[in-house]
Amino acid sequence: MNLTIQTLAERVLAGDLLTPQQAKELLAASLDDLDDLLYWANQIRRHFFGNQVRVCSIVPGRLGGCNQDCAFCAQSVRYDTGIDKTPKVLSDEQILAAAAEAKRKGVPNFGIVYSGKAVSDSELERLIALAGRLKNEYGLGVCMGLGILSDRQMFRLAQAGVVRYNHNLETSRRHFPEIVTTHSYEDRVRTIEAAAAAGLGVCAGGIFGIGEREQDRLDMAFELRRLGVDTVPMNFLHPIAGTPLEKAETLQPRDILRIIALYRFILPTAHLKVAGGRVLNLRDLQSWIFFAGCTSILSGNYLTTAGRSVEEDMRMLRDLGLTPVAEVLTKEQNANALHPQGVVP
Ligand code: SF4
Repeated sequence: MNLTIQTLAERVLAGDLLTPQQAKELLAASLDDLDDLLYWANQIRRHFFGNQVRVCSIVPGRLGGCNQDCAFCAQSVRYDTGIDKTPKVLSDEQILAAAAEAKRKGVPNFGIVYSGKAVSDSELERLIALAGRLKNEYGLGVCMGLGILSDRQMFRLAQAGVVRYNHNLETSRRHFPEIVTTHSYEDRVRTIEAAAAAGLGVCAGGIFGIGEREQDRLDMAFELRRLGVDTVPMNFLHPIAGTPLEKAETLQPRDILRIIALYRFILPTAHLKVAGGRVLNLRDLQSWIFFAGCTSILSGNYLTTAGRSVEEDMRMLRDLGLTPVAEVLTKEQNANALHPQGVVP
């Protein structure tokens, strides 16, 4: 048994939060001892979450046509990726149909995600009306990810009953300018703070395998903890032809498991949601994510790449003895969730 990993795990299980220095020690220890890291990450997951796993689905309400330059993204007009350079906006009927499908398959919470840096007030009002229908007529928890919104726009979403806002940091503050130059890390941090201030839950994470160093991964985890996010989407680069990262080497399954486990130690009570790149990069090791500490999955298709069917994912959870949480997220949970250390059950 690796004593460094065990000692740090016992601290986390006792309610302590790891310091950046302890996280570095954990990182070093994990390089030679993935088995122990996974064992303890799984103990931490079980301690804080039992056997429950959250499943959510998203629909790209606006796809493509984005003038930003995120180096991993198929939706930027700056890259020839085969996605139309004119944004495709789904109608109310198309979004409602996708939500009804998710509901029918047992997914309780549904996200509408837009490409682009921001949305107009008129588009926001259309989405707010739709959110009301999804909540009242379909009984779904509604999440949105619409880019960089003003404080006023965030309050409108919260007032309308949207429960959670998705806005990723993507990577560390140091590495961000190597990946995005059209907006700043601070823009992203401010957006997350605006969402939290409006009373929305925050779903914020990033993407791995984009040329970041190990230290960048740790730094992002600590920034997310400081910001008090309740759910951390973890994407693993699926290189898209035409983007600057098209030739990037994909992460190996064991590397991905190690990253998830390190995040479980650093963010013990935040949901870790494995999202884009799960199918391509983890291959046969997909079900191991839960033993690395994952407590949430994005099921169905991702924004621009195919995922797995909800039915297959639900079966995987049942086969593992895990329970998909049927609970619809509510605004009240957000208020309860934000506690002083900024980590959320
Ligand atoms: S990640 Fe979002 S902001 Fe960046 S290019 Fe893609 S759609 Fe645009």
